[in-house]
Amino acid sequence: MKEDAYWIKDTVKAHTKWFEASLPMIASENLMSPLAKEMMISDFHDRYAEGLPGKRYYRGNIYVDEVELKCLELAKKIFKCQFADVRPISGTVANMAVLFALTQPGDTISTPELASGAHISTAPFGAVGMRGLETIHYPWDYKNWNLDVDAAIKFIKKEKPKVAQFGLSVFLFPTPIREIQDALQEAGSVVWYDAAHVLGLIAGGKFQDPLREGVHIISASTHKTFPGPNHGILIGDNLTDELQAKLQKAAFPGVTSSHHLHAMAALAVTMAEYEIYGKQYASQVIKNAKALGSALYEMGLDVMCPHLGFTESHTLAVNVAEQGGGSQVSIDLEKANIICNKNMLPGDTSSVKPSGIRLGTQELTRVGMEESEMEEVARLIYRVVMKKEDQEKVKKDVWELKKDFTKIRYCLNEGEEAYSFHDIF
Ligand SMILES: *Cc1c(COP(=O)(O)O)cnc(C)c1O
Repeated sequence: MKEDAYWIKDTVKAHTKWFEASLPMIASENLMSPLAKEMMISDFHDRYAEGLPGKRYYRGNIYVDEVELKCLELAKKIFKCQFADVRPISGTVANMAVLFALTQPGDTISTPELASGAHISTAPFGAVGMRGLETIHYPWDYKNWNLDVDAAIKFIKKEKPKVAQFGLSVFLFPTPIREIQDALQEAGSVVWYDAAHVLGLIAGGKFQDPLREGVHIISASTHKTFPGPNHGILIGDNLTDELQAKLQKAAFPGVTSSHHLHAMAALAVTMAEYEIYGKQYASQVIKNAKALGSALYEMGLDVMCPHLGFTESHTLAVNVAEQGGGSQVSIDLEKANIICNKNMLPGDTSSVKPSGIRLGTQELTRVGMEESEMEEVARLIYRVVMKKEDQEKVKKDVWELKKDFTKIRYCLNEGEEAYSFHDIF
């Protein structure tokens, strides 16, 4: 019905206004550039392409092929690699492609555990388990939020996993791949790194350089620290022709049919922009996360890993068990327009009532906030979490701070509205 159609539009508009007035701190979200957004509502959205550029199954892909070849060229350039496939339509779908390409049901895969910050797609009940794989978990150093290197070396040599998978959703510190590389080689494991969260930091040269440290294949989302469309990517270096062909077959027809051409074009635009702005953006994201971590810690919040400077990425993990737990605290923060998620911390057994929250600085950085604003953000969080102040009152001050940070930065057309709704009708 007409009323329903317009009601939906109004509701989405209301959401957009809400986020403009908020501090969005979900570590997996970001804002697209105006040029990338244009691609999302282009005619590319209405089309199909199957296969690789120049070898499509459908006609009508003359321009699509040109854009996809440019997208692949840019991916190889910014990730310094020989292989890229931009067809997976999300990070999870990219992971499924890797699983199809590298594994058979019954194979053994090593992964970090969920309570260590891993993603559900690599959990025994996620895509990895559904592929029928035997999952084993690395020995973990909970204090340092990372692999226990010595124990992991012994573990890899003993278990010889067919695939060794790394990467986290609460990704505070680089994974010491270089330190365990000899063991991985000795075990003959294919090394797979899920960079969903940290792709933008890697592209900006700031977190770690997995392909130079012993990783064979990277899968990722392109919309977390990398500020592109909701989409996925596979990249690799020094892969055999056989492995490249397997990955390409897994991407299509394994896990996609058409690959969301509008998002592929938006990804290409974001990569072109990232060549110009990526280094500066990634560097400020990390500076902001460190600044927010120390400000919160000084105000008495139990931010994880103070002895390591809290984080080397965009993410902070905060233990709020004593303030009501991650679930309640994230609800309270939302009432003050501070948007984050509850998160499991080491030792937690319940993902429904975990003791932590996770905070990310990538979106606040994208709208121009710097270290001094992180102090103010910390103060607002403190008032809700520690002082239990009236959330409506804090919400007003959230808007006072945010209203000067509603324009997009680190992209072409800097200064345009970051939270615009493209009202056409
Ligand atoms: C977010 C995430 C994914 C999934 O990405 P989607 O694009 O949402 O499908 C995969 N792996 C990790 C580590 C993630 O954090």
